[in-house]
Amino acid sequence: MIAFFLASMDLSHFPRVRLARLPTPIERLARLSGHLDGPKIYVKRDDETGLGMGGNKLRKLEFLLGEALAQSADTVLTVGALQSNHARQTAAACAKLGLACELILRRSRQTSEAYLSGGNVLLDRLFGARITVLDPDASREEALALRVQELHRAGHRPYAIPVGGSSVRGCIGYATCAEEILAQSAQLGVKLSAVFVATGSGGTHAGLVAGLHALGSDLPVIGVAIEGTRADQECIVFDLAAETAHALAAPPLARERVTVLDEYAGPGYARPTDAMREALRLAAGFEGLVLDPVYTGKAFAGLVDVVRRRRITADGPVLFMHTGGAPGLFAYPDALV
Ligand SMILES: *Cc1c(COP(=O)(O)O)cnc(C)c1O
Repeated sequence: MIAFFLASMDLSHFPRVRLARLPTPIERLARLSGHLDGPKIYVKRDDETGLGMGGNKLRKLEFLLGEALAQSADTVLTVGALQSNHARQTAAACAKLGLACELILRRSRQTSEAYLSGGNVLLDRLFGARITVLDPDASREEALALRVQELHRAGHRPYAIPVGGSSVRGCIGYATCAEEILAQSAQLGVKLSAVFVATGSGGTHAGLVAGLHALGSDLPVIGVAIEGTRADQECIVFDLAAETAHALAAPPLARERVTVLDEYAGPGYARPTDAMREALRLAAGFEGLVLDPVYTGKAFAGLVDVVRRRRITADGPVLFMHTGGAPGLFAYPDALV
């Protein structure tokens, strides 16, 4: 093992704008841990980052929009699914910073009123974002590139954010969360054995892995895929994490640091599973904790299953990252029936 330990990371060359209410609390899920009869389960409340109803994307946006402001951008664009939590948090942050916000959102084949105009879409409108809705097969990246060109030609200064805010700069936000987790768990006197997190565009998972690595911690992070296969998701996350570790001037990252479970994704993105429904009911019924049907519900289903199958034992407490997404519940009212 290389003797390498940083008390903190040097982030001085990454411009940052404060958006999230930090640190978010770590809470114990006492009743649910007892019910499952496994390890103590703690939850990191990144659903409570505050602005625009909160969620994990605000940590990324602190660094992404920090760069946008440093470049004197006037218009921020991003892409996502129609009910993207990332798009909603971007719209809220832009409102607060006085930046114009344009969202390019791709709908699925769902046609319910709630899906098309409720949940996150309702909030996007409220935050004053300009929304373009794409058909299910359209390319978001092409639409984004075209619109960026248009804005340039019209004399604007656009700043484009990739899907989920998962660029290296966005990942830095979750590297700082790793630092927060290490400090808080030490303060609580809890020696964590693993962190569980929903992994989608990959930046949250990658940032945590890179941050822990940069800080000399070997705490394992288990990503629970919400779509796609283990091989593909591990590849996406590893590439991002390795680049982020490099940006943090940490030693090269070992491929084994990235682990993804893909058994809980079900038929695809935002497609409900029975295990997701059960996870939402367990968290709500034992703890009054609201999860979401697209991300945290599937991730928590993975944690519950791992505990039940004794794939982790009772000696090590585990931390579940609550990454937010509750507004999505109101867009998929049928997901729970
Ligand atoms: C975006 C999102 C995730 C996944 O984060 P990535 O960085 O895209 O992997 C998890 N949970 C919620 C609620 C999200 O909105």
